[in-house]
Amino acid sequence: MENKTLISIIIPAYNEEETLQASVQKIGETLASLQDRYSFELIFVNDGSSDTTLGLLRQLHQEHPDWVYYLSFSRNFGHMSALRCGYDHARGQAVICMDADLQHPPAYIPVFLEKWAEGYEIVFTSRQDDQKTGWFKRLSSKYFYGLMNRFSDVHIEPGAADFRLLDRKVVDLIQQSNETDLFIRGFIPWVGFRQFIIPYTPDKRFAGQSKYTLRKMLRLALNGITAFSVRPLRIATFLGACISGLAFFYAIYAVYAHFVLKETVQGWTSVLLSVLIMGGLQLLTLGIIGEYLGRLFIQAKGRPPYIVQESTLPPSK
Ligand code: UDP
Ligand code: MG
Repeated sequence: MENKTLISIIIPAYNEEETLQASVQKIGETLASLQDRYSFELIFVNDGSSDTTLGLLRQLHQEHPDWVYYLSFSRNFGHMSALRCGYDHARGQAVICMDADLQHPPAYIPVFLEKWAEGYEIVFTSRQDDQKTGWFKRLSSKYFYGLMNRFSDVHIEPGAADFRLLDRKVVDLIQQSNETDLFIRGFIPWVGFRQFIIPYTPDKRFAGQSKYTLRKMLRLALNGITAFSVRPLRIATFLGACISGLAFFYAIYAVYAHFVLKETVQGWTSVLLSVLIMGGLQLLTLGIIGEYLGRLFIQAKGRPPYIVQESTLPPSK
């Protein structure tokens, strides 16, 4: 044990009863070949699963008490909160996070460590989609990153996945951040440091269904955009300025038409159109402002991003 570098691996799990055992076994096989230089802790974060995930984790911890641990939330807080919790509790010199469903091939772990040893503080992967990835996932991912990069001030590598290695320095920054809704995928390009990208092709989900519902994806997208940029607010201001400019000229024309041309009874269509357009735009901009106000509201309440109900924290090494 002594003098080996401790590496943490964190794995969020939400209703993953079908994949956990295989995950631990596959990851264990990969780690076995690295035992001479590194020691490992595998920390599962049970994100309020409603199936037997927690029971299985207890059992896995009993089977491998010296390297498999878990934390369990009081309810479902979402993937991002589970990751955050993992980073908060990991003790390794480097922290790797991956999914429970074996879509992130454990074979990349040695590659991560190699790059880390070369001095990269951040080694992350970008998903190369192929036919194995469903068309919806491919399309939504493409538009998500397109939108993200257009509307926010950080550049996120298209396909950037939550399958990465972070050096202790970066993990400490995540721990110290007091953002309630920290968008880790955006935070990572924002912090800088030496970053290395590894393209990878995800494997098929080992078992079970994707736990990312459309609602969760949309929430993630909105969160990502509003967390890193005020550009949507600027767009609202810009639109407002353009429309006001046009309205000003139209107002001059209306006065002119009334007093000089004296032809002002018709015009139902133009009135209706302008009411509709203005109404729509006002609602849109109100919505954008509301989105930011909501973020402030959540942040001001200062609630914790997750609540741990049960844990077998790894002993300090
Ligand atoms: N996950 C989570 N909380 C959630 C949804 C998902 O912890 O509310 C976990 C899930 O168990 C998995 C990872 O996040 O380990 C990625 O989820 P999934 O494989 O369902 O997403 P996909 O690969 O389809 O994007
Ligand atoms: Mg998956």
